[in-house]
Amino acid sequence: MAARPWHAVVLTLFPEMFPGPLAASLAGRAQTEGLWHLETLDIRDFARNKHRSVDDAPFGGGSGMVMRPDVVAAAVDAALSQAPPGAPAVYLSPRGTRLDQTLVREFAAGPGLVLLCGRYEGVDQRAIEARGLREVSLGDFVLSGGEPAALALIDACLRLLPGVVGSAGSLAEESFEGDLLEYPHYTRPQDWDGRPVPEVLLSGHHAKVAAWRRAEAEKITRERRPDLWDRYAAAHGTERLAQARRGKKGPKGQEDER
Ligand code: SAH
Repeated sequence: MAARPWHAVVLTLFPEMFPGPLAASLAGRAQTEGLWHLETLDIRDFARNKHRSVDDAPFGGGSGMVMRPDVVAAAVDAALSQAPPGAPAVYLSPRGTRLDQTLVREFAAGPGLVLLCGRYEGVDQRAIEARGLREVSLGDFVLSGGEPAALALIDACLRLLPGVVGSAGSLAEESFEGDLLEYPHYTRPQDWDGRPVPEVLLSGHHAKVAAWRRAEAEKITRERRPDLWDRYAAAHGTERLAQARRGKKGPKGQEDER
C-alpha cells in the first residue's frame, strides 16, 4: 500500500503567498509527482463577526494588534481535521525553539504539519496554550509574518522526503549531517581568475579526496561554529580530534597541521 504523501496545512491571512517558491524547482516537481501535498486555509474564513475581523487591540495597551483566540483556534481545529492524524501543530514565532536540521528531520519523518502563520503582534496566548501549539522560530530576527518561515520550514522538510532530491549521497554529505558544515565545492574552469582548483580534487584518488573533504569540513566547522564542533568532537572523540583541539588551544595559538 502506498504511504500517504507528506501533507502540510498552512493557516495564513495571505493564502496568495503559497505555494510561492515551492511551486518551482525540486519542490514543485515533487508536488506534481504527488510526493507531498499542500493545503492553504485563509484564517479570515474563520472570523465570526460581520466585519470578519481577525485581530483586536491588546489588553493592557501597547502598539499593534493581536490575532483573536477564537478565530485562531477555529482555524487550527479545521486544519487539524484536514491534516493527517498525528501531524504536529506549529506556530511560527520568534519566541519558539530555533529550527535546526534535527527538528527538520523529525518533522519530515512525520505525516506532515499544520503551520500557523502569525501577523501583527502575533497570536493571543490562550489560543497557543489551548491548542498546544509548538512554537518554532526561524532564527533570532523578526519577520513581518510567519509565511516566509513556513515556506522555509516546508522547503527544508521536502528535500528530506524520499524521491524529492535526486541522490541520497548529496543529502548525506550536506551541512549539519553529523554536525559538520559542508566542505567547499569546485567546478570548471579548472583555473579561474588565477585561482586553481585544489590539486587533490584532480587526482582521481577517491580515498584522498574523501579525506581532504572531511578535513576541510572539520576545519570550517571548527572555525565558524564552535558549538557544532564541540558536539562533533564529543561524538567522534578520536585521538586525531583531541590533537586538533589541543592544537587550537596550544601555547603558540596555532592551528594543527594536517
Ligand atoms: N511581536 C512579536 C513579533 C510579531 S511578528 C514578537 O516580538 O515576538 C509577526 C509574526 O511573524 C509572528 O506572529 C510570527 O508568526 C512571525 N515571525 C516573526 N519572526 C519570526 C521568526 N523569527 N520565526 C518564525 N516566525 C516569525
